[in-house]
Amino acid sequence: MSNLFKFLPSVDLVLTKLESDDSLTDVPRTLTRDLVNGFLDVCREEIKAGIITAEDQLSLDSLYPRLTCHVRAGARPHFRRVLNGTGVVVHTNLGRSLLADTAVKAVTEACATYSNLEFDLSTGERGSRYSHVEKIICDITGAEAALVVNNNASAVLIILETLAAGREAVVSRGQLVEIGGSFRIPDVMTKSGAILHEVGATNRTHPHDYEAAINENTALLMKVHTSNFRIIGFTKEVTGAELVEIGTKHDLPVYEDLGSGNLSNFSGLGLMREPTVQEVVSEGVDVVSFSGDKVLGGPQAGIIVGKKKYIDMIKKNPLNRVLRIDKMTLAALEATMRLYLDPETAMAQVPTLKMIMEKPESLKLRAQSLSRVLGRVVGDDITCSVREGVSRVGGGAFPEQDLKTFLVTVVPTGDMSVPELKERLLSSDYPLVGRIEDDAFCLDPRTLTQTEYHMVADSILQALNLSN
Ligand SMILES: *Cc1c(COP(=O)(O)O)cnc(C)c1O
Repeated sequence: MSNLFKFLPSVDLVLTKLESDDSLTDVPRTLTRDLVNGFLDVCREEIKAGIITAEDQLSLDSLYPRLTCHVRAGARPHFRRVLNGTGVVVHTNLGRSLLADTAVKAVTEACATYSNLEFDLSTGERGSRYSHVEKIICDITGAEAALVVNNNASAVLIILETLAAGREAVVSRGQLVEIGGSFRIPDVMTKSGAILHEVGATNRTHPHDYEAAINENTALLMKVHTSNFRIIGFTKEVTGAELVEIGTKHDLPVYEDLGSGNLSNFSGLGLMREPTVQEVVSEGVDVVSFSGDKVLGGPQAGIIVGKKKYIDMIKKNPLNRVLRIDKMTLAALEATMRLYLDPETAMAQVPTLKMIMEKPESLKLRAQSLSRVLGRVVGDDITCSVREGVSRVGGGAFPEQDLKTFLVTVVPTGDMSVPELKERLLSSDYPLVGRIEDDAFCLDPRTLTQTEYHMVADSILQALNLSN
């Protein structure tokens, strides 16, 4: 064994061969040497482990295919495209919403050219970056005024800081939500300086609970959408309208953190109704905040709408400068909101809405078509079939509610186990994310486009080949 080491090609020999390889011209040279060293280390480990046992396995020619794979994989950008086969439409870990074509174009233009970002074309003087979207957001939601910050977590922070720092904000115990990524409403309240005044019980809160909590130090009545869980059984939540009544009586503003912030009518899908932003605004809630990239289907942003009096106070908060959105976000947001001027256009063009609305009949046909592509490209190394399953909206909308779909199930016919396949798919050129159900790797066409079917097939091919 020990004398096998001396047959390993030298780093310089390997580098010379790589330099003349036209398929690797986009690999930065500064990365290549380290990658080659890493690869040769792997070979040494394999000699020690008795995986490489003969001199001819160590010639540069026999190592070359694996070597180039190693170099290509190591030189790939860290932030990459993945294929979402999970069926979770607003998948926070996979980037939430895909932008509509018009929004993509707007972003591309905004970052490649100069713009009137903070320039008033009617006066030739300094303008406001927020002017581009405030009117359209108000037109669509029915609100008096609007403001956009970095994300909805920022919105919660700046609203509480502006309206309740050093004073009490009254919230129901059933709404002290943890969203994930360690975002907890009580923690954000602490950071904002607002004092949390919890009322009610976990499952039931009544209007009189809020009434009883109000004292001379109360600044705000707050309602939080229970985005990622449901309390069922013996429950009671105070409605926005009821809170507005109490707020009006005591001259206190009411703030609702809607989380996902839905602008569309999703009836006909069998989902439990969630109030739209428009409905919450029309109930008279003073300040409402929601995310731009959840079911709205736009870029990451925290949209704040409501009464002008309060929005003006929030605009003047220095935190607004800290939490401001960039020009690409603005471009994407305006383009997305323009689609909402006609609800049917939004349904037809905003990818998130299209995916949520896709009918089971259509998903069945697409699952069959994906299954055929996999059969044709991958062949006998897997068995595929189509069966009924469920998708989720995700992103804190419609928690614990199922959308009917059809899944393509994939099972390797050789030695590879299903969990091993799932893991290896993450190392392919286009990492493919899916889930295991009933001992099969399952792909949901809801979150895959037709143009991605061949990439899915290639990923599976690559994952199967990595085994030998
Ligand atoms: C998702 C969510 C947030 C955080 O929104 P981001 O846009 O992710 O910052 C805050 N509150 C609720 C209720 C949510 O569902």
